[in-house]
Amino acid sequence: MVSEADCLFCKITTGEISAEIVHETGRTLAFRDVNPQAPTHVLVIPKGHYPSAAALAAADDGLADEVFTAAHAVAEREGIADSGYRLVFNTGPGAGQTVFHVHGHVLGGRGMAWPPG
Ligand code: 5GP
Ligand code: ZN
Repeated sequence: MVSEADCLFCKITTGEISAEIVHETGRTLAFRDVNPQAPTHVLVIPKGHYPSAAALAAADDGLADEVFTAAHAVAEREGIADSGYRLVFNTGPGAGQTVFHVHGHVLGGRGMAWPPG
């Protein structure tokens, strides 16, 4: 598995940093955001280290599919799959990406404004 010594989310996958895990598969992990922006705010990641959504897509081994499937499983588990949820991958600093281990934000439980800020 690809990992980076100083990566915050790699440390969550190893348990070095604690997080409230809500869903796990062989190659994915989902945990609550420490600073939630909605009643449900869960981050879904591949356990392996890919810096961005672009890098994950380029891996082309089905892992991106697993991350999407895990995100929907989280939405179902959190009871927001039918009411609606937003799945966001901030990609690059200009889009607000601050942690460079790809993660999808699963946001829901309240109305979502569009366009996002
Ligand atoms: P980004 O800004 O890169 O799209 O999202 C990074 C997210 O990681 C932010 O929503 C932030 O609140 C969350 N985050 C940062 N540090 C931690 C942490 O140590 N634990 C958890 N659970 N979330 C974190
Ligand atoms: Zn990482």
